[in-house]
Amino acid sequence: PTEGRKYHPGMEIVEVFDSPGKGRGLRATKEVWAGDVLFADPCFAAVVFDSLVAHVCHSCFRRQAKLQRCGQCRFAQYCDRTCQRAGWVEHKQECAAIKSYGKAPNENIRLAARIMWRLNKEGGVVSDMQLTTLDDLEDHLSDMPEMDLKELKVDVHNFLDFWPRTGKQHTVESISHIFGVINCNGFMVSDQKGLQAVGVGLFPNLCLVNHDCWPNCTVILNNGNHSTINTMYHTQKRIELRALGKISAGEELTVSYVDYLNLSEDRKQMLKQQYFFDCTCEHCTKKTKDDLKMAGAVVDGVPEEKVKEVTEYSVEMLKKMENARLEANYNEVVKICRECVEKQENVLADTHIYQLKMWSTLGEVLSYLQFFEEAATYARKMVDGYVKLYHPNNAQLGMTMMRAGVTHWQAGHIEVGHGMICKAYAVLMVTHGSTHPITKDLEAMRNQTEMELRMFKQNEYVYHSMREAALKNQPMKMMAEPVEEGVKGLFRKK
Ligand SMILES: [Zn+2]
Ligand SMILES: [Zn+2]
Ligand SMILES: [Zn+2]
Repeated sequence: PTEGRKYHPGMEIVEVFDSPGKGRGLRATKEVWAGDVLFADPCFAAVVFDSLVAHVCHSCFRRQAKLQRCGQCRFAQYCDRTCQRAGWVEHKQECAAIKSYGKAPNENIRLAARIMWRLNKEGGVVSDMQLTTLDDLEDHLSDMPEMDLKELKVDVHNFLDFWPRTGKQHTVESISHIFGVINCNGFMVSDQKGLQAVGVGLFPNLCLVNHDCWPNCTVILNNGNHSTINTMYHTQKRIELRALGKISAGEELTVSYVDYLNLSEDRKQMLKQQYFFDCTCEHCTKKTKDDLKMAGAVVDGVPEEKVKEVTEYSVEMLKKMENARLEANYNEVVKICRECVEKQENVLADTHIYQLKMWSTLGEVLSYLQFFEEAATYARKMVDGYVKLYHPNNAQLGMTMMRAGVTHWQAGHIEVGHGMICKAYAVLMVTHGSTHPITKDLEAMRNQTEMELRMFKQNEYVYHSMREAALKNQPMKMMAEPVEEGVKGLFRKK
């Protein structure tokens, strides 16, 4: 680690430093405010998940019903010619390798290969904001459990088989390092709207940002603009590190690798298992808000025993619910949730995480099944609970407010709906920024609900007939099928 070294002339806001007890870290060199972008890191390499290769464009990572195959390898799939052209630089060598290997290897190997091709072509320069090199990134190979290490060795072996004989040859050690880096730094790449995880990528500079359960920054993926016909004008996939509030000069920049809704013990365990460190952040040390997350309702006469009993019951029901959800049996999901929610009512606090989980699923599935009125009730309870737990500028909180706002709009509660959409917009302006597709959607929704609200106040009859028409045309297609792989974690973990 090089104290205070700056690599890029335009990059004066951040610098690498030695973070006590954490190794290398990043800190601010001047004061920044909520929503300020500390850096944008272009994607070094990314691949679509094995499970989604036929459903997601390999260039822009959009989910599409119909994709066109690459005529050469018959593996890569694209929205259209424009996306294919835009993705050709990254796919060219992969395409030839897949053809001669006879099939496409798994996502880890595809990502490692894309990284190596790019390294061979461009050397160690990973981006113009050169804060680190791939060689310097931690691989944690020595911390890995025996089982995972075995899997990694199989991947390395298959990689060497897949890698063209005529290309530059690599040692087992250097390839193992890359797989180790991918294992602990592979970033979840989401679809355009950020609603579903569809792939994994590497953003080298992001790897320098250390974890805190109550962080001062958030990281957001912007898939770039692939809408123009001319490939030359496409903007690149990148992540942005954005400040959640005021950060003073010299303060370390942190993001959270895990969802804050977990109890401190559980977060610590996840971080140890997946990222190989013991979290000593203030919230873990003080077990901040753990009591709220497991609390009983503030109703007279709920004995501690009863809270414990319903908590244990909830764990069982959550398992059942997850299984039904995996089978896409949504009526069964609703049945299980309703049964559980009834038992939890007036026993668990509105911040109890098992109750929040049930409300969240119930709200989401009910709105998918178009029971908007009931869905809105749970969405609202959930927002009330989240507000007491999350940082006011948490992205998850903003997205939840947005969904709740749309659900209220769908249920015909225009005033509450508009209010929630406005609140969500304020959060997303900080966490996602004004150019992110989801913020743009939200802005359109805010304008529409504002207009409707004005109309509603002027003339209710006209409002209702207009709403009917709007619902028929479905201008707000926010409610996709409840997906299993939401985007909760930052990094891809097994
Ligand atoms: Zn595309
Ligand atoms: Zn191809
Ligand atoms: Zn912590």
